[in-house]
Amino acid sequence: MGHNDSVTPVPTSRSEELFARARAVTPGGVNSPVRAFNAVGGTPRFVASAQGAWLTDVDGNEYVDLICSWGPMLLGHAHPEVVAAVQAAAARGTSYGTPTEGEVALVEEIIGRAPVEKVRLVSSGTEATMSAIRLARGFTGRDVVVKFAGCYHGHLDALLASAGSGLTTFSIPGTPGVPESSTALTLVLPYNDRAAVEAAFAEHGDRIACLITEAAPGNMGVVPPEPGFNAFLAETCRRHGALFVSDEVMTGFRVSRSGQWGTDGAVEGWRPDLVTFGKVMGGGLPAAAFGGRADVMAALAPDGPVYQAGTLSGNPIATAAGLATLRLATPDVYDHLSSVADTLRGAVAEAFTAAGVPHVIQSTGSMFSVFLTDGPVCDFAGASRTDVAAYGAFFHAMLDRGVHLPPSAYEAWFVSAAHDDRAVQTVLDALPAAAAAAA
Ligand code: PLP
Repeated sequence: MGHNDSVTPVPTSRSEELFARARAVTPGGVNSPVRAFNAVGGTPRFVASAQGAWLTDVDGNEYVDLICSWGPMLLGHAHPEVVAAVQAAAARGTSYGTPTEGEVALVEEIIGRAPVEKVRLVSSGTEATMSAIRLARGFTGRDVVVKFAGCYHGHLDALLASAGSGLTTFSIPGTPGVPESSTALTLVLPYNDRAAVEAAFAEHGDRIACLITEAAPGNMGVVPPEPGFNAFLAETCRRHGALFVSDEVMTGFRVSRSGQWGTDGAVEGWRPDLVTFGKVMGGGLPAAAFGGRADVMAALAPDGPVYQAGTLSGNPIATAAGLATLRLATPDVYDHLSSVADTLRGAVAEAFTAAGVPHVIQSTGSMFSVFLTDGPVCDFAGASRTDVAAYGAFFHAMLDRGVHLPPSAYEAWFVSAAHDDRAVQTVLDALPAAAAAAA
């Protein structure tokens, strides 16, 4: 046993106090479920501040942050130029309800990076996918939506669906509170399964408005598309007159300067009809977007018949944070993210191998996940075989050693431009004992 196999528990009394207060007034004590540690047990750490790669909690503990706000913090926390942009924007007024120059500039920046001709800004990824689906239905005059099990697109009713009893049967609600009628037009298929897609389109093709997929799934853990899968989806949609909606809320501006679709805007010669964005493009403030083919986007109000709107859409502060972040997201940032992710992946594999813990590490760009299973992991069924209890032990052993991983076995780990040698070394030092804790 090495000297760092045991650590003195860090103080958590202030977090515990706040969590008790929070639970008295907010369901589960949190404003988004996965923050609650239900999957790993224990008390979530209440963060007082964050700087660069580090979180500081209310008890004064510091953690290397591998959540990065679930994706947005590409540059790390409190980047001085982003903070300055936010402060300057706030001083000019927080919301006007009229058009602003910042909105135009942010949309131009997105169009300059991603394969979209027209873009509309919204405030969350959920709003982006909800609006894209309404637009696809309005544009095609069809109702059915196809999605994949394990892909998350936000908490809109139509997409909180579980697979029905057969591959081409319509779904059932994935949560109480979603009426059957809301998912009755949603088909849920296994990811990376071409035969299932062919069968669904063969049976329902003339009713399908769109197929929506994460451009490279990260919400069942990272499960990359098999080579050619996105092109196959785009081609299948085209053949059946359906729209192909690529959800880049998580991957956009993170896995490359544009996202999964690459800077030339195409994967194997295909491009999506609609794309959704969020997370990085808001620089940590609420900004998201959907965009795509000009003829499809032209169907939106006020020029077209499909209604969509938002009081805070294109909010000046969020727009300023997003614009500052994207302008600072230069090629060297992406090189840095790749090299940090490479180092971490290598060390994680080495630690679990040494501890004799079966593991599969999968990545898309610098996003990666560790599945504690023999694999393979090419769909939700594969991801579901990860050993959740072992992950919980690993998670807490890392937390005790100053590394904050996502508190769920089914999430991507995120790094930032601010993850420097000290942050990386802290993770490397923590890994051997934490992997042993999972054995
Ligand atoms: N789409 C994807 C791929 C996501 O990862 C998420 C959130 O994690 C969403 C949509 C929903 O975004 P938001 O949480 O901003 O509503």
